[in-house]
Amino acid sequence: MNIYLTFDVEQDLHSEKYVSLQRGIPLLLGLLNKYNILATFFVPAKLLNKFPNYFLNLEKQGHEIALHGLEHERFDNLPLIEKEKRIKESVKIYKTIFNKNPAGFRAPQHSIDEETLKILEKNNFLYDASYTPFNILQFLFFPRRFLLFIHGFFSSRKIKKIKKTMGYHTLKGAVCKAPCFLDDPKLKTVRLTPHSKESGFQFMDINKNFYEVPTSSFLIPFVSLPLRIFPWILLKVYLNILKLTHKNLVFYAHSWDFIELPKSKIDRYFNYRRLLNNLDKTIFYLYKGNNFLTINDLVKNENS
Ligand SMILES: [Zn+2]
Repeated sequence: MNIYLTFDVEQDLHSEKYVSLQRGIPLLLGLLNKYNILATFFVPAKLLNKFPNYFLNLEKQGHEIALHGLEHERFDNLPLIEKEKRIKESVKIYKTIFNKNPAGFRAPQHSIDEETLKILEKNNFLYDASYTPFNILQFLFFPRRFLLFIHGFFSSRKIKKIKKTMGYHTLKGAVCKAPCFLDDPKLKTVRLTPHSKESGFQFMDINKNFYEVPTSSFLIPFVSLPLRIFPWILLKVYLNILKLTHKNLVFYAHSWDFIELPKSKIDRYFNYRRLLNNLDKTIFYLYKGNNFLTINDLVKNENS
C-alpha cells in the first residue's frame, strides 16, 4: 500500500499570521525526517512568492510542492475568465520559482468544479486533489455539499448520463452509486466522487494524464480531526478500516494544525501536541510494508 501525506500550507486559522511556517512545519518536518518519508504540500502561489526560499528548501528535501489557488480563494464562485486568469498566474509564479510545471492542485475549501478541472487539464496539471469523498464532517462544515450529495443520491445513476455530461473519455469503473452528487442541480451535471469501496476505485482516471486524487475516507475523512480526537485504540481500528477499504491512503491536514490555536475550540480540547503524537503513532503503525510517497509519484507510477 502507498500512503500519501498531504498538507495545505496557508495563513494561520483565525489569524493574519504565518506562525505555522516558523513553528508548525518544522515540527512536522522533524517527524517526517524521523521516518525519512516525503509529503506533498499544497501552497497558494502568492505565499510561494512571499517565501520562495522556504519552499525551494522544502522541495530540495524531496517533498512535493503543489498549488493551492493563487491567494487561497474559492474557485467555484469565480467567473470562468477569472478562474483561468488565476490559475495561469499561479502557474507562472510556480514556474519562476521552481523552474518547472506544477503537477498538482487542490482548490481551497474543496471548491473545485468542472470548469476549474478543465482549466487545470489545459494547463498541463497531472492531478487535482480537491475532493473528499462523502463523510459526516461535510455535513457539519459544508452543508451545501451535503445537500448536493443527497440530490445525487436520488438522481439517475446511469453511466450514459455521466459520460454525456462530463464529456470525458475514460471513466474507470464508472458506475455512479452513492458517492455521486450533482455539482450544479440546474445544469444537471453529475460528478463522480470517487469513493473507496462502492465505486471500486480510489482515484478517478479523467483522461490518461489527469487524475482526481481524493482524500481517503470511511464516513470520517482521513484528516487531522480523527487524529486529534480519537484515543489511540479507536484510531487503530479506524486505520485498519481504512486499510481494508482503500488501495492507497491519502491523509490531509493544514499547516496551522501543528501550532497552538488559542481561538480554536478543537485545539483547546485536543491540542496540536496530541495531533503530532498521534500522527507519529500513525506513521509508525503504517510504516512497515508500506511506502510513503508524494502524489506526483503516484501519478507518475500510474502513467508509466
Ligand atoms: Zn486551504
